[in-house]
Amino acid sequence: MCQALLSTHDFMTVETMNLDMNLGLGLANLGGGPNVYDVIIIGGGPAGASAAIYTARADLRTLVIDKGMTAGALGITSKISNYPGVPGPVSGVELVEIMRQQAKSFGAEFLTDKVVGLDIASDPKMVMAGTNSFQAKAIILATGSMGRTSSVPGEVELLGRGVSYCATCDGAFFRDKPVAVIGNNDEAIEEALFLTKFASQVYLVVPTPALKAQESLAAEITHHEKVTLMLGTRLKRIEGAGQVTGVRVHPRGGEESVLPVDGAFVYLQGGQPITDYLMGQLKTSAEGCLVVDAEMQTAVPGVFAVGDLLCSHIKQAVIAAADGVIAAVAVDKFVHNRKQVQIDWN
Ligand SMILES: Cc1cc2nc3c(=O)[nH]c(=O)nc-3n(C[C@H](O)[C@H](O)[C@H](O)COP(=O)(O)OP(=O)(O)OC[C@H]3O[C@@H](n4cnc5c(N)ncnc54)[C@H](O)[C@@H]3O)c2cc1C
Repeated sequence: MCQALLSTHDFMTVETMNLDMNLGLGLANLGGGPNVYDVIIIGGGPAGASAAIYTARADLRTLVIDKGMTAGALGITSKISNYPGVPGPVSGVELVEIMRQQAKSFGAEFLTDKVVGLDIASDPKMVMAGTNSFQAKAIILATGSMGRTSSVPGEVELLGRGVSYCATCDGAFFRDKPVAVIGNNDEAIEEALFLTKFASQVYLVVPTPALKAQESLAAEITHHEKVTLMLGTRLKRIEGAGQVTGVRVHPRGGEESVLPVDGAFVYLQGGQPITDYLMGQLKTSAEGCLVVDAEMQTAVPGVFAVGDLLCSHIKQAVIAAADGVIAAVAVDKFVHNRKQVQIDWN
């Protein structure tokens, strides 16, 4: 299987030398050597990079494998102003780069490659990336969740330019401006209610004839003075050249029209946790979310999961980062077979 996987890689760059770069040699290295780490972190977004700061600082040999700086949720975000200690706006890439540099300063290695398979039953555990294989005593999964697989015209082009999937993150940019929220679930309605604090008007565009949200939420949104509820209405296109200027909608049995808005918050399908490379080795909830204990450890000892992968109620970079730190401290305890966690305050 691994040889087949080895041919699937797209590209790879090593940012810190010291890795065995002989293509295809991964399996030959399983006895030890340069490809053996104390911990391998899969995903270098805020969750993974923050974990790396702590594991590297604890002198654990740390490798972070990430498929691409702009592939994660933070990486595609153009403006962030709410990360504590980093007055924005900064781009997501800039913020992640700051975290990565901090981790590297403590000795963490970063590799740009895609993880395509794991063996978490073996000891040490095995990580197969596109170009090589690695071993680790512990693994932290931090691959985030992916956005919707289908999109309406204009959505991708205007993402970060008025299109958003996160009112908590971007709502304040729309003070006194009209916005549209598209979706029919609890998340869409909670976000629409949140936006009423800032926006002059909120159009809630619901594709189905009725809301699919909790009764209390549905009642609150229905009677809110700033909200125009548009049931049975489909989003056809997001309009704008370089910035959102409106959303084209089509009510069932009616005429298409354009709602003049500055922001379009799309919640048509929630993000899916990225777990394909696990190949079913860990149990997930019905929504595909990994289950962890208070130390972020999965049912398999030494395998931890953090960040958006866990479908936390609030998806924010600071929460993902905090998850990463909890897991990192637990990894240190696991690798050293300690009974208690130990934190270095120096
Ligand atoms: C449009 C948008 C705007 C947002 N704005 C804000 C904001 O203003 N403030 C805020 O706090 N939060 C914001 N968020 C939320 C925040 O970005 C996420 O909560 C956070 O990035 C989650 O961190 P993570 O590390 O779990 O996942 P991610 O940031 O998604 O990182 C996951 C990483 O895993 C890598 N990866 C995935 N699969 C593989 C694989 N098989 N092999 C190797 N690597 C892999 C990806 O390349 C990626 O770098 C926003 C989200 C979106 C989508």
